[in-house]
Formats: sequence, structure tokens, C-alpha cells
Amino acid sequence: MSMTIRYATSLLVATFFLFSCGKQTTVNLGSLSATELRVEYRVNPLGIDIVDPRLSWIVESNLRSDKQTGYQILAASSPDLLAKNTGDLWDTGKRNSSATNQIVYQGKPLTSRAQIYWKVRVWDAQNNASSWSEPAFWSMGLLKYSDWEAHWIGLNVDHFVGDKYKNLHLPPSPYLRTEFNTRSAIKRATLYASAKGLLELRLNGKPVGDDYFMPGWTDYNRRIYYATYDVTQQLKNNSANVLGAILADGWYAGYVGYALFVQDMQQAREFWGIRPALLAQLEIEYENGETQIISSISDRHRRSYPENKNVWKASLGPIIEADILMGQHYDARKELKGWDQAGYNDEEWEGVVWRSPAKGKLQAFPNVSVKALEELKPVSRTEPKPGVYVFDLGKNIAGVARLKVKGPAGTKVVLRFAEMLHQDGNIMTENLRKSRSTDTYILKGSGEEIWQPQFTYHGFQYVEVSGYPGVPGMDAVIGIRMNSDTPLVGDIRIEGDIEWGGQRGLTSQLFENIKTTQFANFFDVPTDCPQRDERMGWTGDAQVYARTASYVADVSAFFTKWVVDLRDAQSWYGAYPNFAPIPFTRVFHFAPAWMDAGIIVPYTTYQAYGDKRLLENHWDSMTRYMRFQIEAAGDDLLRPGGGHNFGDWLAVGHQTDKDYIASAYFAYGAKLMAAMAHDLNKHKEEIFYTKLFKDIKTAFVNKYIDDQGRINEHSQTAYGMALAMGLYPAELEANGAEQLATLVKENNNKLSTGFLGVRHLLPMLSKYGYHDLTYALLTQTEYPSWGYEVVNGATSIWERWNSFTVKDGFMDPQMNSFSHYAYGSVGEWMFSDMAGIESTTPGYGTIRIRPRIKAAPFKGVAASHKSIRGLIKSHWRKVNNDILLSVTVPANVTAEVIVPATSLSSVLEGEVQASKTEGIIKSVYHNGYASFKVGGGNYEFKSRGALTKP
Ligand code: BGC
Repeated sequence: MSMTIRYATSLLVATFFLFSCGKQTTVNLGSLSATELRVEYRVNPLGIDIVDPRLSWIVESNLRSDKQTGYQILAASSPDLLAKNTGDLWDTGKRNSSATNQIVYQGKPLTSRAQIYWKVRVWDAQNNASSWSEPAFWSMGLLKYSDWEAHWIGLNVDHFVGDKYKNLHLPPSPYLRTEFNTRSAIKRATLYASAKGLLELRLNGKPVGDDYFMPGWTDYNRRIYYATYDVTQQLKNNSANVLGAILADGWYAGYVGYALFVQDMQQAREFWGIRPALLAQLEIEYENGETQIISSISDRHRRSYPENKNVWKASLGPIIEADILMGQHYDARKELKGWDQAGYNDEEWEGVVWRSPAKGKLQAFPNVSVKALEELKPVSRTEPKPGVYVFDLGKNIAGVARLKVKGPAGTKVVLRFAEMLHQDGNIMTENLRKSRSTDTYILKGSGEEIWQPQFTYHGFQYVEVSGYPGVPGMDAVIGIRMNSDTPLVGDIRIEGDIEWGGQRGLTSQLFENIKTTQFANFFDVPTDCPQRDERMGWTGDAQVYARTASYVADVSAFFTKWVVDLRDAQSWYGAYPNFAPIPFTRVFHFAPAWMDAGIIVPYTTYQAYGDKRLLENHWDSMTRYMRFQIEAAGDDLLRPGGGHNFGDWLAVGHQTDKDYIASAYFAYGAKLMAAMAHDLNKHKEEIFYTKLFKDIKTAFVNKYIDDQGRINEHSQTAYGMALAMGLYPAELEANGAEQLATLVKENNNKLSTGFLGVRHLLPMLSKYGYHDLTYALLTQTEYPSWGYEVVNGATSIWERWNSFTVKDGFMDPQMNSFSHYAYGSVGEWMFSDMAGIESTTPGYGTIRIRPRIKAAPFKGVAASHKSIRGLIKSHWRKVNNDILLSVTVPANVTAEVIVPATSLSSVLEGEVQASKTEGIIKSVYHNGYASFKVGGGNYEFKSRGALTKP
């Protein structure tokens, strides 16, 4: 259908609506529509504290090459006003702009508790307006400290002063409740709550929201988040209501990381404080304009209020122990039946105690929360020892198990968790180190009992159940996958994948494992692993994986939050740490390539989402880091590998010199700073960092690269890094790439890289045309390789290339995680090269679709990525000697589509010659490839005879 016919059709449809509805305002004359409205990356967020938040939407169209030529945003203080198209808070009028994201709110100043209803309409390429989008919403949190009437409260639980290295100290969870009366006709009720520790909120017998592990992990001395919930529906009009909270130590007061494992730490828990505390403020607005505030308050403070303030009581209950690493222990016989409902007799409960305010700033939770996102039914159950049952959930996740059991009161069921099994079928827990990872449930004996802990999580595929009354059925255990709710936005399917005897083909299983491992580790912060006594925001792992992460899931809010953690953790002299947040402050550890996360993660987040504010907010911090780097470098501008320097962590074979890595990253940091300075219009800084990069490069080349392009650190990692970081003299790049290719071939098509080197290996081989080698590495199944993990049964990405082998069993149990995403960084190449989807300007304003088809040992690859600008698809197939390539480019985006071809005219789009089809802006043929610049839309390319052997 030609452009004019399509356009005429849409006009006809519009006119039809015009007549049939008779209401001009509801008519969509334009071809675009705006959907998926977001505020600060989240859908209808509540209680934010950014007073000029950024808005975004996605535009969709059925036409090719459609563009947004303008937009109008209306923001209103009520849904009614918005419905009447009155933007009393903000009416942008028509703005001629193609921007669909990072649009800064510039309306009336927003105050605490403000409710903002908004919508947008957009103008298409023909300058026709769309109808208004569906309305969206956000609300403001409590912006001033004086908005808080609530105090921090808790229950006094004995503080253990013994030797925490010898005996675990696992205090019980306090239960807190307040009963209060409401008046009639509630208009709106909003609950603001935070905890030092972890929090579960209850209102009238039900949980509030579906978040877990709130209020998340921060450096609590610097900031602590509060969450906001709309509880209007949960509150009862004109009657008694109960607000309750259960607290646990969490990261704040519980065991964190390897503190117990590493003996010189002096402290194993309570890194931020000793006991958990609650801060809660429930604000009720009545239809008649009156308000009522129910807040957490101790008896002592209650007395200072003239009006009758609600009374809080506290008690211990069934949660005997609750610790993230150690597990949860629940005695159902101690349940406080009805404690979170009105009418419960709390006479026996104690008064609550006042707790000092959090040291850090109280701020609105900016992240996506941890949620229970998937339920996994066991695929098998075995009994390796009499009475000990092992359930296999089929994949290695993070989360908990839900137990179903029936039996006599007092029966003790113990759940243990593991990623792998020993040969005798028993669970392998040696790699958990000091993480006890054990949950215990004591039955109350009243029929079927169902229990799921909320203050712990484990990294596991297997659940061992002992003490179960009778033989547990297959439904006795369900795996609950938990992680930060970063929606999946990337998918890859392979046609004609390599068979190896597993359920899925080799590369499909690899991709599945990447996704599984990402989710298992995106747990409020990007953790290294979810199972052993570590689970920290290791910076090196995060920086190599960040780009893959943003292909797989929407990590915009997640990384925006973690960049703040990085900043909070930065040392006074500028170095970023090895992990953020940092619980252990006695010694500050930093390392090349780990600390560079402070530059690389913001840069990568900017690439994916076009977020300049993130860079602006982080700029001073990055500047301090670069100063530290410059000072630490010698006069020769080479950065000696200072700090802990892990080098190319866990590399196999040739080890790359650690100083080399430090210098390369120093240069790379300067290069990224120059690029960011350019985009932020910081001219002086751009000049400064451009020169710095050039100077470091000169020094680097002098020291490491000879005039034939050979690096004296002759390793795959060294070549990959130098090429990817722009450290090669232009005229020697091809030689460098050849050296890299030769090294891979000499190594029998196997890699020899660790955490750092692996990221660049395939992208650089692709860039310089060694396509056969990329696929040989990708589908290699001999050690070391990704395929080797798969054929050895991996359902996740392992920490080591040889974490387990069928022949030799387990590697060093002290450090052997089966859920470590770092080696999953090949996911980036799978999207950018195997499927060919790449963003060529920050935030996917322009994209490239350039799949590496010819050398692929598959029949086809179908991939999709939902970017901040809309859905992108690339689906290629080899059919006889032709290549078919279906492409979806979002409206308002232009793409360069590159496909192998014998000539320009050999490529069809639909039925016609591609270069002449609608939507093609430019066509070029060069060296075996046809390249088409196209506007948004769906395209079906057919490159005839592209696979014919010459
Ligand atoms: C962690 C990492 C981390 C490394 C630093 C390990 O214990 O699990 O993944 O990057 O230490 O070398």
C-alpha cells in the first residue's frame, strides 16, 4: 500500500468516527498514538520526591516513517479537570518537538502530597493531532521533614553481646500494631512508611502492597527510603481499623556479605544499627475536607499531643529468626491470630519504644521494588536419605519456597537450599559458605498449613525438605522467584539451534540462563550472586554486564537508584568502591575496572535511556574520580594497578598484566568522560578529557603495542580491551584484530578470558569481520565456554568456566557460585550482532539493524527489544539461498538496516525492489552488503541469492 493510499484510509477511518460519534474531541485524526506513559521511568508512581520529574511515552503508528512532530501535555490536579482538558497544573500547549522521553515537568510547583493526573497528545508526520492518551498519574511524597509527624519506633529485644563469630545471633521479629477509629466518607488514605531494617505492612488483616524487602538497601547513614501506598480501598469507613507492621533486621542490622567468613572483619552484623525500627504515617482525607493522621509514635511522645493519638503496642510473635543470609524460623504455634485486625486483645503486648531518627536523609523510594514474580512447580522429587526429600525446581533462581504441610502441632519441618546436587543426590551447600540459608517451620497442627517467609531469600534450584510429616507430595513445595521488578524487554529465539540432548537448543538455553541469572541478581542492587554469604553490589560485575542488563530488562529506575549508591559509597579521595552500598567501612577497597563502574554504569544507562540528568547529577562525582585516577597515575600517564586489582578476574589460560588493565580502564574512563561532556555541552571538560585520553593512549601504545599491532601482553583480553576502548592506532586496528583472531584459533576456538575480557571478545571479532570465530566461540561446548556450562546442565550462568564438570565435579567450594551474571555479558553481543539490534544514538533515537547472518550456524534468529522509544524487532531466516529479514522500527525512529546482498537490486522489500519501497530514505550497496535507511514501520526484506556460494 502506498503512503497516499494508507494515509487516505486512515483519514477515512477518522472521518467515519467523526460522523458516528459526533464528538470532535474523541476523534483521532492523526496516525500516531501515545501509550505507556511514565514518570521517572515508572508507571503511575506514588509519593515521588523529585519536584521536576521527567515524563515519557511511546508513540505508535500503523504507517511507515511516521514521526512525532509535536506534543501537548496536560497535567491537572483532578481527574475531572483532566477529562475536561483543563491542565490547571501544566498545559504545554503544542510544542513542536519529536521528544518522547526525558521531558521535564515545568508546571506549577508541586508540593507534598500533590496528586497529578496527566495525559498527552501527539502530532504526526502530517501534523495531525492524535486523540488524548489514556490518563496517567503520579503523586508527590512528603517533601519536607516537617511533613513527618511520625517517629521511629520499635520493640526492645535483648541485644546480644556475645561472640558473633561463634554463635549466630538471630533476633526474633517484632510485631507492631495500632488500632484506631475512622470517621465516615473517606476520600483518600495514603500510607507513607519506612523501616530501619525490613518491613511488612498490614492493614485490617491484609498485606499492604505486594513489595518485599522494603525499603531497600542503601547506605542508611546517608539516605533511607520510604514507600508510599494508596490504601483507600483497604481502610474501613467509620469503624475500627488496624495498621500493623512486622520488622526484621535486613541489611540494616542483620548479617551482610562475607563478614562472618572473613575472620578479620571484627564485625559480622549490625553494620548500620542494632535493632529494626518502623516509621509510618497514614494520612486520611475525608470527603468533608477533614484529615486524620495515624502515625508511628511512642507513649512518651504521644503524651505531648493534645488530641488523642493512636496507641501502638508491640509483641514478639511466630517469627523466631529472620535474616537475609541465614534464613527464617517460624513457629506457627506462636501465631498472634487476628493481631492485624480490629478487636484483637493486645493487653499482653508491650508499649513501643522510641528509636532515634535515621542518620540518613529520608527520601522517596526511587526504585522498582522486589516482588514475587514467578511460581515454579517442582519438576522432580527424590529421597536421597530416608525422610529427606529433595525437590528440583528446574532452574536456579533467587527467592523462597512456599511450603504446604499438614501434621501434628510441634512438627518441625526444615528447608535447606542449594544450587546443585552431589552425586549421591544430596544437596551441595559447601558453596554457601557462612550463609546458613535454612528455613524452619513448626506446625500449629490445624489442618493444611501454608507458609512462605518474607525476610530472607536464597539462591537455589533445589529445596531439601526434612522433618516432613509423611511423604511430601509434589505440591508440598513451590519455588517463588523474587527480584526487583525490572520488566523483561528483550527476547531472542533461535531457529535451527544446535541440539545437544537438552530440552532447548544450546544457544537458546544460554540465553535463558542469562535471563535467569540477571533476575536472580537484580535484587534491589545488582548483586554478584544470590546464594553464598556475599550478595553485594559488586561494581566490576555490574559494569561489564550493564549493557546486557539493559537489553534484557528495563533497568532504568534500577540503575538510576544504584548510581546514587555508587556515589554514596565513593571515598573522600574519589575512588569508587568494590561494591556499593558498603557495609564494611573499616577498610575501603577499590580496584581497577571495579571502581570504573562509577563511570561506565551511568554512561551505559545514558546510552540505553538517553538520561542526561543522571549524568549531570553524577558529574561532580565522576570528576572527583577522574582526579583521583590522574593523581594516582605516574608522570607517564600509565595508571599502575592500584588497590586490590583483581585483574581479569577468573580468567583461564594466559593472565593479562594487571597494570595493563588499570591503564586501559584509566584511558577508557577519560574517553567516556569526553563523550559525556560533549553531549552535556561541557566544552572545557570535553577538551580536557579528549586530550587526556589522547595522551594516555599515546603512552599506552608506546608501552604496550608495537608497530605491527602486536601487544606485548599477548592475550585475548588485552586485544579485546584495546580494540573496544579505542586504544589502537587507527592504522594498526586491523592487525590487532587479526592477532586476536589468531589467538582464538590457536586456542582451538576457545576463549581464555575472565570477567573483564569476555565482554569485548565477540563484539570485537564481529566488528573486524571474524564472524566464523564469533559463532565458533558462542557454540563451543568444550571447556572453557558458555556451551560447556550448558552441556554440563547449567540453568544459570556460573561464576567460573569450570564451576562444575560431570567428570571432575565441583571446583573450589569456597568460591563457586552458579549464579553470577558476569560471563553472561555475551548477551550484549547476542542482541547487537547475532540479532543485530543496536542503538546508535543515546536512548535509541536512531538504531541499526545489522545481524551477522552468513556465518551463523542457525536457520534463523528472532529477537525483540522494547526500548524507551518503542518495540524493535529483527527476525532473520536463511531460506534456500535467500536471506529473509523482517524488521520492526518504532515510529519516530530511523534505522539503518544492513543485510548481506549480491547487489542493491537483489534485495526486495515485500514485492518490490527494496530501494524503491515506501519508507526507504536511502539505499547503498557496499562490499557485499545492502544498507537501507528507513523510517519507523514493519519491513520484510528478501535478499535473493545472498547465500549462494561463489
Ligand atoms: C565476587 C565477585 C567479585 C569478586 C572480586 C567475588 O567474591 O563474587 O563477583 O567481582 O569477588 O574479585
